[in-house]
Amino acid sequence: MASVLTDKHPCFSSQAQHQYARMHLPVAPRCNISCNYCSRKFDCANESRPGVTSAVLSPVEALNKFEQVKAAIPNLSVVGIAGPGDALADWNETRETIELIKKVDSGMLFCLSTNGLLLPEYAPEIVKLGVKHVTVTVNCTEPVVGAQIYGTINYQGNRYVGAEGTEILVNNQQEGIMYLAGHGVTVKVNIVMIKMVNDWHIPAVVKKVKQLGAALTNIMPFIPAQGSVFSGLPQTAMRDVTAMRAACNSELKQMTHCRQCRADAIGLLSQDRNSEFKNCAVKPAE
Ligand code: SF4
Ligand code: SF4
Repeated sequence: MASVLTDKHPCFSSQAQHQYARMHLPVAPRCNISCNYCSRKFDCANESRPGVTSAVLSPVEALNKFEQVKAAIPNLSVVGIAGPGDALADWNETRETIELIKKVDSGMLFCLSTNGLLLPEYAPEIVKLGVKHVTVTVNCTEPVVGAQIYGTINYQGNRYVGAEGTEILVNNQQEGIMYLAGHGVTVKVNIVMIKMVNDWHIPAVVKKVKQLGAALTNIMPFIPAQGSVFSGLPQTAMRDVTAMRAACNSELKQMTHCRQCRADAIGLLSQDRNSEFKNCAVKPAE
């Protein structure tokens, strides 16, 4: 059963999508891994969007933007950190942004999205901060599959490639999901469906993350990004994604209304109002 908090999150609850708005604050530009489907000119595929973020904000700029958006959009219920890199790779900025907004709005919901590499390190702080919704992108549970999807994994000062690196990533994702779910956080798992790479493996991913305590999965189509390692692979057809979601639905609840938003998206999921707030990050001089 959905919690009262999830009922106000337009991504975690399909009913809430028509009623409540979200805003993404792009305060986390760096990333610690390289996904072969990612072009760093684009926002992070943790939240899948094909657009770029207009600007990276400092935590103070993010607070200013939040205050202006909140005044203009009273049904704003969620502030999310979705890159444009990884929310945990720039943890200080992510944490400071949430702390600043909490001071001016104690009722706001917070969510963040991550590749999960640093979850064992930061999951306790995430819980302590009061973040109730986390999205983790999990494309595989087997390092050998991950070796086809990820290039380098930069972890604790070392650079890993191949199955050695993806084993660290997979283990950390799983440890982190279990911790968060066990501490009252609603975890959504995004899965990028890549034909002939991980599509056959997705039911096993869904089964595993359910065991770890994830509340729902969001199976998303692979979209080739210019400049990425996978730029030459075919886009995954929505009919194949729909069939995979249907096949996995008996295992775990599936998200079907994801809009693949930008890292600076604002408004209802159906109407991004980002362009209205382009220049409001920095407060005008008084
Ligand atoms: Fe790109 Fe996100 Fe993957 Fe990092 S985690 S490489 S930003 S898709
Ligand atoms: Fe929600 Fe999907 Fe948009 Fe993220 S990308 S804010 S999950 S609709």
